[in-house]
Formats: sequence, C-alpha cells, structure tokens
Amino acid sequence: MIRYSCDLCKRDLDREEDLRYVVKMEVYAAFDPASVGGEDDDRDHLEEIQDILERLDDSTDDQIGDDVYQQLRFDLCPECRKRFIKNPLGRETAKAFGFSSN
Ligand SMILES: [Zn+2]
Repeated sequence: MIRYSCDLCKRDLDREEDLRYVVKMEVYAAFDPASVGGEDDDRDHLEEIQDILERLDDSTDDQIGDDVYQQLRFDLCPECRKRFIKNPLGRETAKAFGFSSN
C-alpha cells in the first residue's frame, strides 16, 4: 500500500482520515519576443519555443529541460496547504512556519 507524507511537515497522511493536497508548480523560462532583438517577424521565436518543447518531450534530455522548464509536485496535509495558499513563495513569514535554522 502506498503511503503518503506531507512534503512540508513530513507527517504521514492517513489515507482514510487525512485529506491530501497536491501542489503542482511549473517553472519555465519566459520568452518575450519583443526583448529578443527587434525583428518584426516573431515566427522564429515560436519555432524556437516549439523546438524546446519538442526536446522536453524527449525525456532522455533532462539537462536542457531543467533550465527551461521544471515541473514540481508536492503532497501537503491540510494545515500545510493553508499555509502554502497564504504564502506560496515562502517569503519573509517563513519563519513563522517553524522552518527556523535547520
Ligand atoms: Zn504538513
């Protein structure tokens, strides 16, 4: 049987008693055609992105993928989900979550 634990507080999640929340994040390089030289024709950039996306499909090429595109997935317990929603990027208030200096 698969056991899940919260990725933030590490506590085990009981399948029957605890709700489990899944957080999925996508982090990818933003392409702004206007800032990449002054060509009127932005078809090249679209092709470039297509190229990258095609390469991403090819799972043997992980290294390039990490730079350009990363997908993260976390399991959270209900309490950590609340904290996460309030502060998704873990800014200053992170201390209040008890992450102090470990
Ligand atoms: Zn938790």
